[in-house]
Amino acid sequence: MKSGQNTAAVFNLIRGSFVDGWGIRTTIFLKGCPLSCRWCCNPEGQSTEPELAITPEDCTYCGLCADICPHLLLPDDVGPVVDRDLCGNCGSCARICPTNALTMFGELYTVDRAFEVLIRDKAYYDRSGGGVTIGGGEATFSSEFTFDLMKRLQAEGIHVAIDTCGYMTSPLSLKILEQADLILFDIKGMDNERHIADTGVDNDGIIETLMHLGRLGKDIIIRLPLIPGRNDDEATLVKEAALISSVGSVRRIDLMPYHEFGVVKYPRLGLVYPLDGESPMPRERAEEIAEIFRKTGIPTQIGG
Ligand code: SF4
Ligand code: SF4
Repeated sequence: MKSGQNTAAVFNLIRGSFVDGWGIRTTIFLKGCPLSCRWCCNPEGQSTEPELAITPEDCTYCGLCADICPHLLLPDDVGPVVDRDLCGNCGSCARICPTNALTMFGELYTVDRAFEVLIRDKAYYDRSGGGVTIGGGEATFSSEFTFDLMKRLQAEGIHVAIDTCGYMTSPLSLKILEQADLILFDIKGMDNERHIADTGVDNDGIIETLMHLGRLGKDIIIRLPLIPGRNDDEATLVKEAALISSVGSVRRIDLMPYHEFGVVKYPRLGLVYPLDGESPMPRERAEEIAEIFRKTGIPTQIGG
């Protein structure tokens, strides 16, 4: 089974969360994203399909995986080596690996299966004013899956937040945002050329989408990844604050200072981390930046 109209690959699902919106929430993370941000801390969220992950230091050289797959070699002292061009990410080797040196990022869910898991905590959502957050990757990229799941949840009276990069890949992607109860909207910068270089896509359509949602009066939480030397200069921050003020329906601003938590995932996927050498943003600098956004009068916090 591959991801498609009624299925999506899920790479994480967190119940009892107090972030990604208000109240107690379950956040479901879907694989697949049209962007490739250089600082991405969830590289396993970029491809739409499940992917093989390798942790060589956990390998005991039992040989089980190499016995069943011709695309996998076991050189001495290196751990399992996979020819990624030939690997079909079938997951057979991960299923038999006794030490989890081989695992899969992502598992295919139907809308029915996701709904059954997400509705289990409805009593907590109701009591806390919480709900479900669909994130990723990009929640609107698997648009049919996300739209159907959102409508099923909303029909049960469950509040649904959508975490989005704002880059719309289909009319249905935009319809998801128009019908969501809350939108967590990323702004990754203001300069278009830099935005293209850092994320792979144009920023103009993203800003248009944000303004459109503001005109509809949608509840929005803005999320700002703060990447030292890329989007944390004074001019960019002031422009972002002015843009956010003009939207009209932003309920909160969440600042997301750069960290390195995702770096270890890149080699596990056979990828090279694009921002090697960057340092995490100091808390004091994030506090200084928060003051710029607090001047908008919109509640601003570090983290989200
Ligand atoms: S995921 Fe499948 S194709 Fe890829 S190395 Fe493992 S068994 Fe082989
Ligand atoms: S099955 Fe797991 S532990 Fe055994 S050789 Fe393969 S990766 Fe190593």
